[in-house]
Amino acid sequence: MKKLILMALCLNIQAFNQKVRDLSDECPETRNFHHIVQLGSKKQYISCNKIHQYDRIISNISAIAPYAPKVSLIIHRASGNASFDYGGNISIPQSLIFPGKYGHTIYGNQFKISSIFAHEYGHAVFNEELKKREFFKVFNLYSRRISELRVKNLLAYTNGNIGNMINRTKDQMNDLSERRKQLDYIKMRDFITAYSELYADVVATYLVNQKSDIFEALYHDSLNDRQYEMLKARSFSNHGDWEDFYHTPHSLFAKTRAYIGKEYWPKTQAEKKKYLSVILKAIMAEIDKKYSEYSTFNAKRLNNDLIARLEEIRKTL
Ligand SMILES: [Zn+2]
Repeated sequence: MKKLILMALCLNIQAFNQKVRDLSDECPETRNFHHIVQLGSKKQYISCNKIHQYDRIISNISAIAPYAPKVSLIIHRASGNASFDYGGNISIPQSLIFPGKYGHTIYGNQFKISSIFAHEYGHAVFNEELKKREFFKVFNLYSRRISELRVKNLLAYTNGNIGNMINRTKDQMNDLSERRKQLDYIKMRDFITAYSELYADVVATYLVNQKSDIFEALYHDSLNDRQYEMLKARSFSNHGDWEDFYHTPHSLFAKTRAYIGKEYWPKTQAEKKKYLSVILKAIMAEIDKKYSEYSTFNAKRLNNDLIARLEEIRKTL
C-alpha cells in the first residue's frame, strides 16, 4: 500500500515537473486569444506588456487581412522555432536564440519575435480559406481537436490534474495524430505548405512595410551558405537564380516573392487590404486548379503560373 502511494506521488511529481503558467488569467483584456499559456521555467519572465503587443499585432493584421481568427498562444522556452499547428495554436519562443556553429548560443533580435509571430498568424489566416476545401476538411477537424487537447493538456499542469487529464489528453492527441498521418492530405502537404509560407510572409512583411523583414528576423552570422541562400529567398527584394530556391517549402516561391515586392507592394492601408485579399484568392485558384495533380508540377511552373495569374488580375485593379 505504501509503495502504491509512493508511486502515485512520484507520478504526480513527474507530471508537475513541467512548469506552465496560465497567462490568460495573469494578463486579461486581450481580444484575440482563446488561451495564453507559457511553458518552461518560472524564471523565464514574460510581461503582460509583451502579450498585449502580440494581441495588438493580431488586431493590426485583422484590419488588412480577409480573416481574423481567434487563436491560442503557447510561449515556449527560448529557441529559433515557431509554428502554427494547422488547428488553432501559435507557438513562439519566449526569446529568440540560434545554435552557433561552435556549440555556442546566438541571441537573435528580440524585437523581431513580433515579425515571426505575425508570420505564424499569417498561416492562421491562410487556414481559414483553406478549410473551405473538401480535401482539407478532415485534416482540419483533427488538427483543431489536437490544438484544443494540447491547451487542455498544458492547463492541467497548472490547474490540477483532475481525472488524470494530462495522460488522458496525451493519449487522445497521440491517437488523433496517428489518424491524421493516414489521411491523403499528408501526401500533398508540402505542395500546400509552400503556398502557405508565401502568404504568411506577405502578411508579416506588409504589416511592417519592410520587404526583408523575415530575412532580418531569422538572420544570424552562423548561418552556413545554403541556409543563408534559403533565407534570402524569404526577402521580397531578392533577385537570385530562382532554381536554387526550388527545394524547400519556405523558399520555393522566391521568384513570386520578388514579383510581389515589385508589383504588389502596397503604398496605403487600403492597398494592403486589397492585395492581401487578391493574393489569397490567386493562390487558392492555383491550388484548386492543381491539387488533384499536384505532383506533376515543378516549382518553376508553380511560380510562373501564380505570377501570370497575379499579373492578369493586376491589369484589372
Ligand atoms: Zn511558416
